[in-house]
Amino acid sequence: MLYMENAIYIICAVVIFFMGSVVGSFLNVLAYRIPIKESIVKGRSHCTSCGKQILNRDLIPVFSWIFLRGKCRFCGEKISPRYMIVELICGLSYLTAFLALGISVKLAFAVVLFPVLIVLSLWDIDRKEIPYACSIIIAVLGLLSFLTEEMPWYEHLIGMAVIAVPFAVLCFLGAMGGGDVQLMAAAGLLLGWNVVPAAMIGIILGALMGIVIKVKTKLNIICFGPFLSVGIAAGFLWGGDIIEAYLGLIR
Ligand SMILES: [Zn+2]
Repeated sequence: MLYMENAIYIICAVVIFFMGSVVGSFLNVLAYRIPIKESIVKGRSHCTSCGKQILNRDLIPVFSWIFLRGKCRFCGEKISPRYMIVELICGLSYLTAFLALGISVKLAFAVVLFPVLIVLSLWDIDRKEIPYACSIIIAVLGLLSFLTEEMPWYEHLIGMAVIAVPFAVLCFLGAMGGGDVQLMAAAGLLLGWNVVPAAMIGIILGALMGIVIKVKTKLNIICFGPFLSVGIAAGFLWGGDIIEAYLGLIR
C-alpha cells in the first residue's frame, strides 16, 4: 500500500514539473510575441531565424532544447538557452511548491503566483521596469487569500502597510523604483507578515548582485525585480518557518 502511495506521489511530482515547464514555454511565447505585437494564440511556434515551423516532437519543454543541443533542426541557428532556462525554472518552481505544500489551496495560489513572478523578473531584466499588470495580479491573489484560513484577514493588510512604508521611503531616496514598491505592497497583501522575510531576502540578494556587477563592470545597475521575486516565492512557501527560526535565534 505504501509502495502505491509513493508511486502516486512521484507521478504527481513529475506531472506537476511537466505542467510547470509547459507554462514556462507559454511564458516564452508571451515574452517574444507581446513586444513585437504578434498574436499570442494564432500561429504555430517558429524558428526566429529561418521562420520554419517547429515540429511537434520538438515542442517538448526543456527536453527538446537538450535533444537538439540548442540548435534549430532546419537552419542550425543557435536557440538561446534562455527559453530552456525559463521552462526549467517554471517547472522547478511548480515542483518545489508541490513538495512544500502538497495538493492544497495554497498550491493553487502558487500555480498562478510563480509564473507572474517569472514574467516580471524577465521584464525587469529586459526593460528595467516591473509591469503594473503583474503587481495587480498579485494584489488580486492577496484579496482572494482573505477567503483562506491561513491567517486572519487583517494580517494581510498589516503586511501591506508594514512593507509599503519602508519601500516608499527607499523609492523616495532613489534606491528602488516605483514598480518595486507596487510589487512589494501587493506581495504584502498576499503574504501578511511573511512579506518581511521575503523583502529581506530580496534586498540582500539584490544588493549582493549589485556589488558583483559593480566590481565586474563598474556599472551601477541594480535590478531588484528577480531578487524580490525569489524573496516573495521563499516568503510564500516558507515565510512562517523563516520567521520562527529567526525568533529562535535571537531569543
Ligand atoms: Zn531555423
